[in-house]
Amino acid sequence: ATYYNDNTFIYHNGNLVKAKDARIDLYSQTMHYGYGVFEGIRSYKTIHGTTAIFKPEEHYDRLRKSAQALNLPYNWSNEELIDATYAVLRRNDLQDAYIRPLIYGPANMSFNPNEESNITIQAWAMQPFLGDKLLRVHISEFQRPNPKAFHMQAKACGHYVNSILASQDAKAKGYDEALLKDLNGNIAEGPGANFFMEKNGQLITPAAGHILTGITRATVLQLCAALNIDVEERPIHPDELLTADSAFFCGTAAEVIGIQQIDNTTLPMPWAESLGAQVQQAYKKLVVAQPIHTKATVVA
Ligand code: PMP
Repeated sequence: ATYYNDNTFIYHNGNLVKAKDARIDLYSQTMHYGYGVFEGIRSYKTIHGTTAIFKPEEHYDRLRKSAQALNLPYNWSNEELIDATYAVLRRNDLQDAYIRPLIYGPANMSFNPNEESNITIQAWAMQPFLGDKLLRVHISEFQRPNPKAFHMQAKACGHYVNSILASQDAKAKGYDEALLKDLNGNIAEGPGANFFMEKNGQLITPAAGHILTGITRATVLQLCAALNIDVEERPIHPDELLTADSAFFCGTAAEVIGIQQIDNTTLPMPWAESLGAQVQQAYKKLVVAQPIHTKATVVA
């Protein structure tokens, strides 16, 4: 994958700098211990032809909360970071993009707190892939982390070792993606997406507690309310998946993507007839109907 070239700019501690010239400290706590936080955001070319970041306030609110949960200093306002993000998009001529802000620590090989944090905002082209593709998923042997050992609501770098292990294992076994259980054996989420199943005209999704309750999940719940689709948030026992009519993942990168098969079980309902397909269509419309960002941007 090509994320950047010689002319790519990133935002780094207040400035737009060339990605190829940016330097991080190899003695950073983040590098060694996974002690950092990040976001995953998308921007879209809207129906107005403009570029709009989807749910920027929600993502930067979560970045701040993630940093606070890990005791990482965080002194940025949403306004300045949203502004910086638009500057990165403009500088790199990006419209449909994936945006990756990262808060990382300075040189510190101890476990002690830091006086300051660093921020980068990187972005690269990513087309919306809401569409016909359906996934074959594998219920992973890797559990989601214990919520008493980690702050599950924080998007902490180190948590993603678990996601990578599960995803690589599922792919090695011939599936597209993993579906992870929580420590009680209930269905939790994908490595980077939340899970919904459909049964008897209702959607069911795992409740908060053992999952990262995503921004897309919240959007899906709002869309369901508008579409009069009933959703229950409760534990899902893996045996229930055998009787599901349909299912999908949702997340910023994944958007809303249908699931065709879970291990050996093929879900019986054609995707086009599912509630998930209705949600997918509504989501697809929503992300390209965002208002124009009007603030004049000045980033050095
Ligand atoms: N769960 C996990 C573990 C994730 O990493 C993500 C991606 N941030 C999600 C769910 C979906 O969250 P969002 O909709 O906010 O992208």
